[in-house]
Amino acid sequence: ESKLQLVHRHIRQFPDFPKKGILFRDICPILKDPAALTAVIDLFEEHARKNYKQVDLVIGLDARGFLFGPLLAQRLGVGFVLVRKKGKLPGATVSVAYDLEYGTAEAEIQEDAVAPGQKVLLIDDLLATGGTLFAACELMRKQQAEVLGCMVIIELKELNGSDKLKPHSVFSLLQY
Ligand code: IMP
Repeated sequence: ESKLQLVHRHIRQFPDFPKKGILFRDICPILKDPAALTAVIDLFEEHARKNYKQVDLVIGLDARGFLFGPLLAQRLGVGFVLVRKKGKLPGATVSVAYDLEYGTAEAEIQEDAVAPGQKVLLIDDLLATGGTLFAACELMRKQQAEVLGCMVIIELKELNGSDKLKPHSVFSLLQY
């Protein structure tokens, strides 16, 4: 069995969650299986080492980006920074508003978290419309960081999130 097959076997689907008509992809079984979790981080690390000469920071998105980001950052020997939902981070922050299906949300980082010119990798569990990762890219632009690319376990192709993120690249392990 390949690493990708191992990861694929540890993703569940729940129809009509969080509301009717949505097919929710659940990555919790990956976390419960050490071999599957290792495979995810191996695949992310392989991609990062092959494609980026230098990575300064891994940036994780609230909340499931926090589960995988620090493991990847440790492998690469770099730091990890959190992009959080508004109001969770102490001290001076920078924020960006973005659209949700109903209403808006705000993504936030600590002002001193990323220095101008730093090369960063963004990570989350899943790319849907791309709104969330787009907001994180905007935060990086505000901080004058260089986005090397975005990484997710799952990409929902029909929602065209990767178009929204252009010119930034998206690396996904699995596409649905
Ligand atoms: P987007 O902003 O539309 O790309 O949605 C991506 C965000 O919503 C990510 O932070 C995901 O964790 C979350 N999300 C959307 N759909 C799913 C799903 O089916 N499973 C898990 N997370 C999801």
